Amino acid sequence: MKPFPVYRLNEKITKSINKIISLDISQGIRDGLDPMIHFTDEQGGPLSTIAKISEKTFILDENEPKRYVTISAAYAQMLWMICSIVLRNHDSLAINSEVEKMTPSERIQFQQELATDNFITRYERSLLDQKKVFSESANILNSMEILSNRNLIDEEMESLYMSDMYDMTSDIGVRINSLYVYAMTFNLLHEFSHHSLNHDFSSEGSLKEEEEADHNAFWAIFSDLEGNERKTALLGILCSLVSLIFINKSLEDDGIHPLPIERIFTFYDIVKDEGSNFAGLLCHLFYIWAVYTHDVDMPRLEGTYNETIEIIKKYMIEKERSNNNI
Ligand SMILES: [Zn+2]
Repeated sequence: MKPFPVYRLNEKITKSINKIISLDISQGIRDGLDPMIHFTDEQGGPLSTIAKISEKTFILDENEPKRYVTISAAYAQMLWMICSIVLRNHDSLAINSEVEKMTPSERIQFQQELATDNFITRYERSLLDQKKVFSESANILNSMEILSNRNLIDEEMESLYMSDMYDMTSDIGVRINSLYVYAMTFNLLHEFSHHSLNHDFSSEGSLKEEEEADHNAFWAIFSDLEGNERKTALLGILCSLVSLIFINKSLEDDGIHPLPIERIFTFYDIVKDEGSNFAGLLCHLFYIWAVYTHDVDMPRLEGTYNETIEIIKKYMIEKERSNNNI
């Protein structure tokens, strides 16, 4: 059986983790963290624990690493799919707002440019059609649903390989990968933070420790990167946080981590003025989530995206609380 296609891309993650110098990963490794990431769910799913840091209970040799991080390969594959949805919606919002600002003559010129057929114009044409962007996002979520629930059969794995999303020579493949790399970096630095902050490994972990790990990872990425790289990294972090509500459709409290919606908005509130259209993007992702989960009461777009996202935030937090009897 083949491993997931996303496997081929993992080496780029090490490179981006090395850019986050303030966390001093090498000191962490000297302090007993295994530098190798261990994968679970390699045989095609179903999804088990997304990511985890564990302490070995029995060590033969004192030079042996005492802690190690595991990541679900099925999750890594799903995260890639979420990144492709996020990128498509991000680009669609950007191009549509550009078109809105154009004068009538600029619009005609743009339409003429789009009429030439090449890879970029095909992508741009697909982005202008918001309905198409939503339906393609829904198709991706359907394959994700299969992946989270069971072991893929050979033909299904084969069709993942056939998808042009994994063509890393394409412009879009490279861009999806840059979001994916930072989404994964955030997940791994969260686990690393449990180690470097010396959290209690003898028990299950607490809400306070989980919040500390999130903030430690987030602020390290935020402060160590700048310019476009930081923008990409922030979109990657958003992919990681949003992936959780697509995997955990009923927004169930796992009893350890912050609730998924609260977690998204904690960081949205910090990054919302950072330049990318985070409000619009998040609105669109919640609309896709509403279609995916058959949520008919999701508040519609009213006024600007900045106004709408605040209404959605209220609605989703209430929904999350009532789903968990809080
Ligand atoms: Zn954690």
